[in-house]
Amino acid sequence: MKYISTRGVSANQSATQSFSDILLGGLAPDGGLYLPEHYPQVADRLNEWRSLDYAELAFRILSLFIDDIPSADLRAICKKTYTAETYRYCRPGRNAADIVPLTSLAPDFHLLELSNGPTLAFKDMAMQLLGNLFEYALGKRGETINILGATSGDTGSAAEYAMLGKHNVRVFMLSPEGRMSAFQRAQMYSLDEPNIFNIAVRGMFDDAQDIVKAVSNDAEFKARYKIGAVNSINWARVAAQIVYYFKGYFAATRSNDDEVVFSVPSGNFGNICAGHIARMMGLPIARLVLATNENNVLDEFFRSGIYRPRTSSETHVTSSPSMDISKASNFERFVFDLVGRDAAVVRELWQSVDAGGTFDLNATPFMTHLPAFCFVSGSSSHADRLATIRDVWQRHQLMIDTHTADGVKVAREHGLPGLPTIVLETAQAVKFAETIREALDRDPLRPLPLEGIESLPQQVTVMAADVAAVKSFVAARC
Ligand SMILES: *Cc1c(COP(=O)(O)O)cnc(C)c1O
Repeated sequence: MKYISTRGVSANQSATQSFSDILLGGLAPDGGLYLPEHYPQVADRLNEWRSLDYAELAFRILSLFIDDIPSADLRAICKKTYTAETYRYCRPGRNAADIVPLTSLAPDFHLLELSNGPTLAFKDMAMQLLGNLFEYALGKRGETINILGATSGDTGSAAEYAMLGKHNVRVFMLSPEGRMSAFQRAQMYSLDEPNIFNIAVRGMFDDAQDIVKAVSNDAEFKARYKIGAVNSINWARVAAQIVYYFKGYFAATRSNDDEVVFSVPSGNFGNICAGHIARMMGLPIARLVLATNENNVLDEFFRSGIYRPRTSSETHVTSSPSMDISKASNFERFVFDLVGRDAAVVRELWQSVDAGGTFDLNATPFMTHLPAFCFVSGSSSHADRLATIRDVWQRHQLMIDTHTADGVKVAREHGLPGLPTIVLETAQAVKFAETIREALDRDPLRPLPLEGIESLPQQVTVMAADVAAVKSFVAARC
């Protein structure tokens, strides 16, 4: 399988790359995102795949996209990644060996538990694989990498837990001092590992993010200290996420003629992009429901055809904070498919977006193609979130987190009669305790092994929001 850029030269895509070429990189040199040159068609493999365990299913799917890692090695990486031990934080009575257990609220309404990994958010599903792929690829090349990132919560901890103990990877993670929940701080700062460095910056998330950008823009520093990233546009993360759409489909249906609806709490469009690709590969998905919070840039697009990224001052701070985005970094992948994979059109649309503007597909022929992609969308507010968390708790004795609540709320409005709806559960309630207390007037449930992590000793270096200080911290440890 070769990879092309969403902004490549459409008439003559000669600059193709292999999977291992793009694994450690970020954007394509032309500013686009990588996608496989075609989507493998798998409708006739569903029978064979239905009974596979998660690791083997992951291997079968990923091997369609990765042909430059020997099969035996890729299978071993999948087996090592998707274990009951790593994904053990499931609800009582669920089978951790399922990796993504299905929980039913009604005969045709299910949650797919994607947040049973070490950091209790769905980001572990892909990040754990990425950690093992990085270790493998760097080992082959005899290289090391220093990952520099900024986090407001879920991504940073998922990256740290994925890179724990990897001798050829160091992680330098910036977080805004005092801005994450006590649980999120404990998760990150209680790690005591020689390759993990937590830096709490005196400032907001945006300040931390700006420092990462400034360091990455210093080409000399970046090359000298082998600075890399694990951001959400990484293709391997999207590829890993395709697997659980198949697993969820098999768990919620009896026959491979059945169709389903998936509902996906969305921010950067990474998770639902994997659902789009699963559908393009032939998985019988009748509808992809995209749920946003008050930051409704994607809901607006699917309702109106207008893509209008927000400024940071227009971006709301909400109680489903991992969906507080101003623009959706993976959305360009979907638009590439929507416009018939014409990179020249994507370049033109993003010329406007990259300059701080918008685009409107109503004036183009592409708007008429949109319904064929089976997306519908909706948004949720803080009040909706509280009401949904309360309703699910009272009627089903299940505690759901704020992001999953957005997915449930919008799914209830957009299901299809007679078809199973599967809501992707993207985090556990304990990560967002404050809102759970507001909704239910009680503390959130938490998996037993994580009782008391807030009282463990913490390792974190507090620093001014200063690029030079961060650079010398990194340099002194490489
Ligand atoms: C990251 C995240 C999301 C949004 O996922 P995208 O891939 O960015 O659309 C939703 N919920 C939770 C809990 C997350 O951590």
